[in-house]
Amino acid sequence: MSDQSQAAQIEVSEIHWLMDMFQSVDVGLVVLDDQYRIQVWNGFMENHSGRSPYDVRNQSLFQTFPELDETWLRQKTDPVFVLKNRAFTIWEQTPHIFKFKNYRPITSVAHFMYQNATFIPLTNTMGAVTHICIIIYDVTDVAVSKLELEEVNTELKRLSQTDRLTNLNNRGFWEECLKKEFQRQRRTKNTSSLLIFDIDHFKHVNDNYGHAAGDEAILHLAKLLKQNLRETDIGGRYGGEEFAVILPETDARHAAIFAERVRRSVEAASVMFNEVEIKFTVSLGIAEFHHDFNSHQKWIEAADSALYVAKSNGRNQVRAYRHQA
Ligand code: GH3
Ligand code: MG
Ligand code: MG
Repeated sequence: MSDQSQAAQIEVSEIHWLMDMFQSVDVGLVVLDDQYRIQVWNGFMENHSGRSPYDVRNQSLFQTFPELDETWLRQKTDPVFVLKNRAFTIWEQTPHIFKFKNYRPITSVAHFMYQNATFIPLTNTMGAVTHICIIIYDVTDVAVSKLELEEVNTELKRLSQTDRLTNLNNRGFWEECLKKEFQRQRRTKNTSSLLIFDIDHFKHVNDNYGHAAGDEAILHLAKLLKQNLRETDIGGRYGGEEFAVILPETDARHAAIFAERVRRSVEAASVMFNEVEIKFTVSLGIAEFHHDFNSHQKWIEAADSALYVAKSNGRNQVRAYRHQA
C-alpha cells in the first residue's frame, strides 16, 4: 500500500470514529444555519426527542419544536451570530430548553430533563459565522439534588418555626414576627393590637382528666383559634396553654370584638376525650400598640397585664390594657 493511500485510510477511520463519538456522546449537539434550520442532530437529540436526523434536517427549529421559546432563544443566539461570542444558559434560569421527558428512575420528581446549554459560533473559511452549534447538557441529577435540598431546608425551617402539638407558630418564631410588627408600628400611623389568652383553671383539666386530655384540649383550642384568624393575623402558642395573636391594622375596639368572638366560641364548644366531655373557658388580654412602648416586650407586658386583670376579675372575659403616660 502506498503512503498516500495509507494516510487516506487513517483519515477515513478517524472520521468514522469521530462520527461514532458524535453519535454516542452524552450531550446534545445541534447545528443551525442562520435561518435556524437544523443541519446537524446527534444521537442524544434523536434519543430524547424521538425525531431522527432525517426527520429534522433542514427543518426550521421553531416549527419542529413549537414549545421552544423563540424570542428568548433568538436573544441568546443573535449575539453568537453577530458578535461571534459564545453564550450560555443555566437550568436555574431556564430549566428546559427542549422539553425532553425525564426517564431516570431516581429522579422521578422531575418530569422533564433539566438542561444547561452552550451556544458556539461556527465560522466558514472566510471567518464569517454561518452556523451555530448548540450543546445541550443533561443536568437533571444536579438540579434534582439541589431542588430536593431546598425542599428539605424549607421543611426544616417550617418545623423550626412550628409548634409540634398545634401546628401554630411556636413562641420563638411568633416573637420574631412580633418584633417585626413592633418595628413597623413605630413607622406607621395605623395601629395594631396584641392579644394574649390563657385557659382558665387548666390544672383542673389535667388533674381531673389526665395530661393527654389536657393536650387534646390545647389542640382543640388551637383549632378554634385558627378558624377565627384572618389571613393577616399571626397566631402562636406562647406557652403551655397560653396563646397569642398579632392583629395588624386593628385597633383595641376591633381587637376586643375578635377576642370576644374567640372567648364565646371556646365557651360554647367542648372536647370529647375517651367519651368524656370536657368544657373550659379562656381569659383574654388585649393591648393596642402605643408609641411609649420602647420594646416589643413592653407590648407583651401590656397585654399580659390586661390578661391578669381578666383572671383576677373572675376569668372567662376580655380585658384591654389602658395606657397611663
Ligand atoms: P389560671 O386560670 O389561673 O390560668 O389557672 P391554671 O390552672 O390554668 O394555671 P396556669 O395557667 O398557671 O397553669 C398552667 C398549667 O397548664 C400547668 C401545666 O400543668 C399545664 N400545662 C402547661 N402546658 C401543658 C401542655 O402542653 N399539656 C398539658 N396537658 N398541660 C399543660
Ligand atoms: Mg398559663
Ligand atoms: Mg391557665
